[in-house]
Amino acid sequence: MAAQNRKAWFQCVNEACKARYELDEIVYECNKCSSLLEVVHDTAALKSEHSPGAWLKLFERRWKSTEYPYGSGIWGKKEWILPDIDNEHIVSLYEGDSNLCFVKRYGEALGVPNLYLKMCGNSHTGSFKDLGMTVLVSQVNSMIKKGAKIKAVACASTGDTSAALSAYCAVAGIPSIVLLPKGKISLAQLVQPISNGSIVLSLETDFDGCMKVVQQISKRPEFYLANSMNSLRVEGQKSISIEIVQQMDWEVPDFVVIPGGNLGNVSALGKGFDMLIEMGLIKKKPRIVLAQAEKANPLYQSYLKGYKEFEPIQAGKTLASAIQIGNPVSVNKAIKVLKSYDGIVEQASENELAHACAEADSFGFFTCPHTGVALAALKKLIAKGVIGKQHKVVVISTAHGLKFSDFKVKYHEKALENVESLLANPPATLPPDVDAILELLDKKVK
Ligand SMILES: *Cc1c(COP(=O)(O)O)cnc(C)c1O
Ligand SMILES: [Zn+2]
Repeated sequence: MAAQNRKAWFQCVNEACKARYELDEIVYECNKCSSLLEVVHDTAALKSEHSPGAWLKLFERRWKSTEYPYGSGIWGKKEWILPDIDNEHIVSLYEGDSNLCFVKRYGEALGVPNLYLKMCGNSHTGSFKDLGMTVLVSQVNSMIKKGAKIKAVACASTGDTSAALSAYCAVAGIPSIVLLPKGKISLAQLVQPISNGSIVLSLETDFDGCMKVVQQISKRPEFYLANSMNSLRVEGQKSISIEIVQQMDWEVPDFVVIPGGNLGNVSALGKGFDMLIEMGLIKKKPRIVLAQAEKANPLYQSYLKGYKEFEPIQAGKTLASAIQIGNPVSVNKAIKVLKSYDGIVEQASENELAHACAEADSFGFFTCPHTGVALAALKKLIAKGVIGKQHKVVVISTAHGLKFSDFKVKYHEKALENVESLLANPPATLPPDVDAILELLDKKVK
């Protein structure tokens, strides 16, 4: 097969099939058995190229450098992600390299003094979706440059995927089409693809409904599918784990807590650690905690039954709109990762996620509701005694809170349904009268 002289290829995840496809082929699932594909690397070739120590040094040398495209958190690890692409075809906005914040005072308050937040929302379009989208759009750009008849790239989205797709496509000059569930994403998320010139379709359905439509549309080869069932995205997102380990001076945390909806990101997290282990850069495995909103918790329900069965559900409305998904595409990959990483699945109610956000914000953050789901899950595991002060814990913060300022405003106005707003901090409205102001300050400042 032609894929054999490549350093990376698509491979069917079904152990009994393992069919291979070229990365230049337009294929999203296995033609033989309809399973998902994953990008597989020729790790033997990678190992003979450099020792573990030499890879580590190479990654450190490129970290945040100005040498395009290697200063990007993704492309600094190019050989492990998309080795065969021509640098000329890469569409990078210096994504990745996001800070891993050591949050001492907040961690101490929670009872986990070794707490870190991986700030994936500090990125071009404000969420971790940039990590996968630079890889997908670069690959599409490369295919177009080599003559593929792709006219546009399409995705269904709960908001952030469409923002990332439209930005990267606009940078490359490739048309993009985004399908959004009408009224179920934040205003900031809606205006991002509008501003970047995407064809924006607001459909009267939920995310799962949009997903079905985009899968039909992308049966036409000129519309390339950008959802995370396309494993190029997962390949870029895999850099999260490599970055975390690098930022901890090549030490592995004890726990990584991550929110999940379509479950591409947790699959990517596991794939990154798998590769670090395979390549000999780490030995230890962290435990992975996947956090779901109670309103959209199909994996949590499956976890309670030891993953013996998985039932898609109709997702209920949740403030964590980017994970309001009842039928996650990457569920099998995610379960495999969770089993391999001694995984735990937790859930958070609307009140718990909103409170966790407000609490983190009071320590100087500006967390999105999905990060709130992860933080609420962390708090539950601390309360259960599973996670404690002896552990190094990383929470993946998936988006910037500024994308969800409506949620924040309503929290502090005590206007959210089923949320207590115990930490509401509304502004005081008063005349510009110094005496009145000082009187108020004397009450407030202790
Ligand atoms: C996409 C997204 C998620 C969920 O990631 P999945 O890969 O769908 O599990 C979580 N938080 C934010 C902010 C997102 O945009
Ligand atoms: Zn197959």
